[in-house]
Amino acid sequence: MNQDEHYMTFAIEEAKKAEQEGEVPIGAVIVHDGEIIAKGYNQREQSQLASSHAEFIAIERANEKIGSWRLEDCTLYVTLEPCPMCAGAIVQSRIPRVVYGAKDPKAGCAGTLMNLLEEERFNHQAEVVPFIMEETCSEMLTTFFRTLREKKRKQRDPDKS
Ligand SMILES: [Zn+2]
Repeated sequence: MNQDEHYMTFAIEEAKKAEQEGEVPIGAVIVHDGEIIAKGYNQREQSQLASSHAEFIAIERANEKIGSWRLEDCTLYVTLEPCPMCAGAIVQSRIPRVVYGAKDPKAGCAGTLMNLLEEERFNHQAEVVPFIMEETCSEMLTTFFRTLREKKRKQRDPDKS
């Protein structure tokens, strides 16, 4: 296991916390000098805040921990490719390196739909390292949505199982 895979396992642990709370399983950690300084997982349903994405929460916690809006020399690990809002927060916090697991065909802004992190016209770019432990990260999501669909189907037709 290389270093990126090592830290991604902690992001996956965060995603599992989300799943246990009935949230879409997405997790993130921020690493500075080899140390995890902030963690976060998706809490959108509980908070009912559009900003409660895993990496957005982790960025705010890292800002608090470091006492600065700048997160230079940090690497963000997130199980799902960042959306436009989170990519914006990454650029605004000057994070230089982003490692993600699964790509997001519906919202991914780190290379899939567009690449806001390596956009030369912005004043900051982040290096993107995609598809680290991709299978584990995307399987968690696939399983979550499959279970959700089955639950909904059973609610509609309680006689069928
Ligand atoms: Zn996001």
